[in-house]
Amino acid sequence: MIDLRSDTVTVPTDGMRQAMARADVGDDVYGEDPTVNRLQDMAAALLGKRAALFVPSGTMANQLAIRSQTQPGQEVIVESKSHVVRYEQGAAGALAGVQLHWIAGDRGLVTAEQVETAIRPKDPHSIPTALICLENTHNAGGGTIYPLSTIEKIRAAAVKHGIPMHLDGARLFNAVAATTLPAAAYAQHFETVSVCLSKGLGAPVGSLLISSDLQLIDRAKRFRRMYGGAMRQAGILAAAGIYALEHHAVRLKDDHEHAKRLARLLQAIPCVRLALQHVETNIVIFDVVDHRLTPPEIVAALKAQGVLVNAIGGQSFRAVTHLNVTGAQIDQAGAIVARVLT
Ligand SMILES: *Cc1c(COP(=O)(O)O)cnc(C)c1O
Repeated sequence: MIDLRSDTVTVPTDGMRQAMARADVGDDVYGEDPTVNRLQDMAAALLGKRAALFVPSGTMANQLAIRSQTQPGQEVIVESKSHVVRYEQGAAGALAGVQLHWIAGDRGLVTAEQVETAIRPKDPHSIPTALICLENTHNAGGGTIYPLSTIEKIRAAAVKHGIPMHLDGARLFNAVAATTLPAAAYAQHFETVSVCLSKGLGAPVGSLLISSDLQLIDRAKRFRRMYGGAMRQAGILAAAGIYALEHHAVRLKDDHEHAKRLARLLQAIPCVRLALQHVETNIVIFDVVDHRLTPPEIVAALKAQGVLVNAIGGQSFRAVTHLNVTGAQIDQAGAIVARVLT
């Protein structure tokens, strides 16, 4: 099976499993797991920040960022197709008691003008804007990369209004691999950044919340405990994260080449619509137009031939390249999709 549904399907490599087996561990609730501490220090340094907190999921990292930087009854500016809006089960409302103010981006990317328009005036009637969240790369936008210049402009607007910024960087290292900019170049514009170790980086579990505000990290630690995310001998998992950052971050560019290769193969199929220039990282979004099969039938037909992709609404499909898909499998997948659709 060639599984292109998501980069979350990656499984630990042999080297990663060995690193996990060898990990020194302790009780992380006491702050005594040396491997967790090493991962946190390493991630903070990579992003040019002072501290990091290891958490079970990207959702928890985002939610701790929101909870730690807002009060109930405040508002958070988010892009309308962002993970925080679509895939976190309403946690911002349910757990932090904040209201989300959606603004629609172009393939997930918003402009400084849009953000500034969305910031509420400070008057007796308006809800206070407490936080601005961006997502880089943008998942539902198709793995799109925020130009640094756009982030700088949004940052200038945020600073002008005194509002902190959070980056959902679940796939920040994909942006880093694609642009060769250091992660810190992005991170410098945000009070908090979340990164996922379990997407293209290939760790089985784990995300980090990263910030230079030590009090904020302390608050987030308390909420992590409240949300059930405090772990004990988590060094086994952190070792996978360290291995991922040391060995797998550099190979994300292979996934990007594979995505372009797959996109070119798909583009050659008559009923497929796809903009090659929109394939910026490891996500390929394509439409199948005027086909006798419905999207669920297309997914099933591809599955029967050994290719897994996701239907994502309308005529659109998503294929994601990752660690466990080789170049040869990309060619194979392209041929199978062509056969099934033609
Ligand atoms: C995957 C993802 C997350 C985190 O997902 P979890 O399944 O909770 O780890 C957060 N943001 C984005 C953009 C993602 O793609």
